[in-house]
Amino acid sequence: MKLADATALKAAMINASEAIIAAEPELTRIDSVIGDGDHGIGMKTGFSVLREKLTEESFATPYELFHTSGLCLVKCMGGSSGVLFGTLFISGLEAIKDKDVLNASDVVDFLTKGIQGVINRGRAKPGDKTMVDALLPAQTAMELALKSTDDIGQILEAAETGALNGVEATKNMAPRLGRSKNFREQALGWPDPGAISVSVLLGGLARSL
Ligand code: ADP
Ligand code: MG
Repeated sequence: MKLADATALKAAMINASEAIIAAEPELTRIDSVIGDGDHGIGMKTGFSVLREKLTEESFATPYELFHTSGLCLVKCMGGSSGVLFGTLFISGLEAIKDKDVLNASDVVDFLTKGIQGVINRGRAKPGDKTMVDALLPAQTAMELALKSTDDIGQILEAAETGALNGVEATKNMAPRLGRSKNFREQALGWPDPGAISVSVLLGGLARSL
């Protein structure tokens, strides 16, 4: 898809929410080994409420859709990741103000600003074993993909691949932030659950666009 309006983006957000909900057992299993075990349930709860809300409401612009989505996640998810996934959508809003449809470059701008917002909010550095270690390679991959395609689905698929490479890399990182810093030794060899959630989210969006 080269241009996505609020309706197409809403369908993509619903698809991504379903992918997150389906990933709950894997997220719970991993966060139970290296964190406090609540990441999967938090994500499932937040994205279930979001899915309901999006199904019931209609949105005139991408801005309205992502504004509502971001606020919803901050409000109903809880944990560090509720705020951070909400921030991902809210911080990107300035890039899509006044646009009725988004092209590939708008999507990259939106997510890039969102990722910067997550970094500003959470203060995680690359290598801290957090979702940032999936978000930054996703951003790099999107920027590269934008040079050779204007298809939004392909751009997001590239982002997903970048995120998955990041997930793989988190296996060798010792956590420094969030509650899983208490599980430093056990965490080696395991991927970061928040990074996995990023890859699932991007994949869910990609598959619908
Ligand atoms: P909590 O750490 O409050 O239990 P969750 O279990 O919901 O939060 O989410 C854990 C995930 O949140 C981690 O796997 C990590 O990816 C991410 N995370 C935690 N703290 C930060 C931070 N300061 N910056 C970025 N990501 C973070
Ligand atoms: Mg947790």
